[in-house]
Amino acid sequence: MAQIGEHGNRAENEEEAQAEAQLKDMFRGMPHDVPLMLFTSPGKNDVFCDAARQIIRTVRGFAPKIGLREFGLDHKMAKQWDVTRSPTLLFDPDKYRIRWLGAPVGEEGKTFVETIAMLGFRQTQLSPESSKVLVDIDAQRHIKVFVSPTCPYCPQQAVNALKAAIERPDIISLEIIDIQANPDLADDYSAQSVPQAFANETLIGMGAQPEELFMLSLAKLEPQTVFIPDNDAEEIETDLVIVGGGPAGLTAGIYAARSGLKAVVVERGALGGQVATTPVVENYPGLTQVGGKTLVDIMVSHALEYAKIFPGEAVMEIKPGDPIIVATNRRRFTARAVLLATGAEHRHLGVPGESRLSGSGISYCSTCDGPLFKGKKVIMVGGGDSAVTEALHLHNIGADVTVVHRRNRLRAQDRLIKSLSDSQVPTIFNTEVREIRGRDRVEEVLLYNHRSQEESLLSVDGVFVAIGYAPTVELARALGIEITPEGYINRDARHRTNVPGIYSAGDVEGGYKQIVTAAGQGAEAALAIFEDLVNPYWRKNGALD
Ligand code: NAP
Repeated sequence: MAQIGEHGNRAENEEEAQAEAQLKDMFRGMPHDVPLMLFTSPGKNDVFCDAARQIIRTVRGFAPKIGLREFGLDHKMAKQWDVTRSPTLLFDPDKYRIRWLGAPVGEEGKTFVETIAMLGFRQTQLSPESSKVLVDIDAQRHIKVFVSPTCPYCPQQAVNALKAAIERPDIISLEIIDIQANPDLADDYSAQSVPQAFANETLIGMGAQPEELFMLSLAKLEPQTVFIPDNDAEEIETDLVIVGGGPAGLTAGIYAARSGLKAVVVERGALGGQVATTPVVENYPGLTQVGGKTLVDIMVSHALEYAKIFPGEAVMEIKPGDPIIVATNRRRFTARAVLLATGAEHRHLGVPGESRLSGSGISYCSTCDGPLFKGKKVIMVGGGDSAVTEALHLHNIGADVTVVHRRNRLRAQDRLIKSLSDSQVPTIFNTEVREIRGRDRVEEVLLYNHRSQEESLLSVDGVFVAIGYAPTVELARALGIEITPEGYINRDARHRTNVPGIYSAGDVEGGYKQIVTAAGQGAEAALAIFEDLVNPYWRKNGALD
């Protein structure tokens, strides 16, 4: 009988073979050379230098048009190109002003592969809307994007910036800065949350932005939140538009397509939603423990076999009717049904200092920003599974973390609580954070113990917040969908909302908020939609189409 280890190895080998085939496919017939220059200095970030060499070597195996020259920081070429950090990677420096400070590994490996493809094929796939914004920029822009190899949101923002720098090399330069290799630079910019993008030393984007919003922010030199698409946007006809690419939306995509519907999934941020940033997911059936991002990658690959996925695309408006019109920042979909699987967003503490210092020591994503706090003192606010899982993650990567919880006991699963105490992570109970203080970055927190009714100050470098999630219901509200007093979408047993043709699934509906329940709701909703489209409940006689 095969052992579990054998299955594991076989699966890994299959995954590797699949990745190799994809890379071969991606770079087949790449017409243009992509000369790279790598600058390193022995004793300075050796691990990152080795990692950079390794990924270049690997990708070069599939894209032989990559050329690599390596120089020391003391070489005259370093002076010529004004390079002072090890490692620094320049991409085709005679044509473009694009440099990578650090090593493009982990999540950033994908960005590196995409960069090579964009340069080698001289194609960025920039949307027409973004292109219009970019051609109108008439002054120099120096972009800096801070990223981390463990941040699933980072590639989207880095690729946005790369597209800009490749399309307008005349006026746009770009530095992608890996915070793990360059913690001092992240400190200088108070970029303690990734991705963060600056242009001409001004913050233009916190988090991953849809491409058009990034370009608009770059043009205006301030973060933009609204992009109104032109009406002549490309139009796609489909049966079902699923808004949201978390477990509910992805599962709905699979089940809808399996039922015979044409389905698209539109996701404005990172695919996988909250799961993508969960360090470890426990007990998703079949998997005792699995990395959140790994689980997302498996789900996305599976969903892609059935549904079209549009990541980095934000739904701006939904017009009910027959057909229903779904306008995104890039195009219009016409559909017979829409599924809102918009999930939930992390809750804020709502205390003074929180919004001002957000990204400057306050973080809602330990997998993204944790590495910056190695050896530093941080608190994790919250008492649920997320707070404990993330506190353990921070402890494991070398942060000095203390949990601060407002009750006298944690509400997380017993197993997690035991791991926390086994790891000797201290917990301060009965205590709330009243204020987060600091000039340019977090320096201390004002705590209030409601048992002793005493306030105290605690010096910290960082505050991580994991106090649950609030449902994302803006689109639902705009549609006139009924919302429960708790703030969730009100729907019937078949996931129908009060607006004909519009359904919901997942965390936006409330309930147990487990990955497996969200996936289950996605499947249920997709099957209900299929049945309704065959026999529409909103037509009185229920006549067949
Ligand atoms: P949660 O279970 O809702 O817990 C939120 C925690 O934050 C609670 O302890 C709550 O305190 C506290 N809190 C809420 N508002 C606060 C405020 N304003 N100030 C201070 N503390 C505040 O949220 P979660 O931990 O994010 O978990 C969400 C769901 O995901 C849960 O169903 C959980 O089981 C699931 N999850 C599962 C895993 C896994 O591996 N299986 C991992 C992570 C999450 P009170 O206790 O006083 O209400």
